[in-house]
Amino acid sequence: MSFAFQRSWGPKPSYPKVLEYKPDEECFYKIAGPCSVESKEQIFQVAEVVSKYGATHLRGGFFRAGTYPGKTFGFVPEELIAAYQEAAHTYGLKNIIEVLDYSSESLNLVLKYADCLQVGARSMQNYSLLRKLGATRKTIFLKRNPGSTLDEWLGAAEHLLMGGPCQPVLIERGGKVGLDHVRWDLSISMIPAVEAITRMPILVDGSHGTGRRDLVEPMTLAGIAAGADGYLVETHPNPELSLSDKDQAISLEAYAKLTRKIKYLVHGLEDGELAVTDHLTYKPDGGNA
Ligand code: PEP
Ligand code: MN
Repeated sequence: MSFAFQRSWGPKPSYPKVLEYKPDEECFYKIAGPCSVESKEQIFQVAEVVSKYGATHLRGGFFRAGTYPGKTFGFVPEELIAAYQEAAHTYGLKNIIEVLDYSSESLNLVLKYADCLQVGARSMQNYSLLRKLGATRKTIFLKRNPGSTLDEWLGAAEHLLMGGPCQPVLIERGGKVGLDHVRWDLSISMIPAVEAITRMPILVDGSHGTGRRDLVEPMTLAGIAAGADGYLVETHPNPELSLSDKDQAISLEAYAKLTRKIKYLVHGLEDGELAVTDHLTYKPDGGNA
């Protein structure tokens, strides 16, 4: 497709399926929910509130690839996965389940309840997993691995599409950083850079993309201002008590506030009211600063 060649630097794209891909529907993805599903009560409470504030998808982890083994929850009762599905559907949301391994036993369990699948950042380059999931025909949210380049990410998306006619959606969730004010550093520039060469939707994850509750709102807004096709935020009824990723979970009240700001931002962007270029008077001469 011609837009592939708008790229002015770097290697020529080597992922034809990604460049030809067109999403079935254009939509703004609004994903919210806890890092991990902890109980039926917790997930119903979250689903009720986030649906009220316009979420489209409920998230909640079961099978985790935590950094440390102690953070994986091990055995997951099937009733809890069923309750998660029920919570999402009761409030008109699609549910997302992360897939960690593709043994038939594990995959069949996930496929029984999931509307959409997620490939976690640490699994982005598990190419056999990607091929297997591509065959499911589902929407698949593909996180960028913290060390991966744009090319490697799109290469991974191509593996999904080689597997079958799934619907990939990219999620920018930050990468490695040599600074100590964040756990991961969200790469805002990935968003317009991906959009310059593909039709693949790309979302901003300001939760994993910072690891800091107080930075989730500004970075989510920044990602949307940069053109993201939606966002993912980890929300918890009582963030301090989250069983995983507690430092980045935002409360349901904070989520409500964030959604109001997003509405203003999106309207402003649509109206062109946020264009700032008119205010620039300084005319650089082209040299390096
Ligand atoms: C998650 O979505 O809860 C998660 C663990 O994300 P990531 O794979 O981006 O770390
Ligand atoms: Mn998490």
